[in-house]
Amino acid sequence: MMKITKLFDLYDHYNEKYFKNTLPFVDIVYADLKDAYGYTMTSTASDIVILLAKGMNKKDTITTLVHEMIHVKQAHYDQPMDHGKTFKAVAKKIAKKEGWKRKDI
Ligand SMILES: [Zn+2]
Repeated sequence: MMKITKLFDLYDHYNEKYFKNTLPFVDIVYADLKDAYGYTMTSTASDIVILLAKGMNKKDTITTLVHEMIHVKQAHYDQPMDHGKTFKAVAKKIAKKEGWKRKDI
């Protein structure tokens, strides 16, 4: 599994590259997720945690992190946390720029 410190570096990198550094500080942890690669958890607006499934390869970990970052944006701006039109547009744009095949990242 990728080191959590590396994931924080990547979070900063993609935050700057695709979100103009507007995403808040979050915690990133590995978890036993049964039905998902990742999950963004919010208890309060200022307390956001990205959960990443254990055991993913590097590519899946990175694409999942970025997928969850779009949810972080939704949470941060009190938008519905869904995979609607806006989510898809952002995901598609990033996937295209990064050369990732999964359009939903
Ligand atoms: Zn999602």
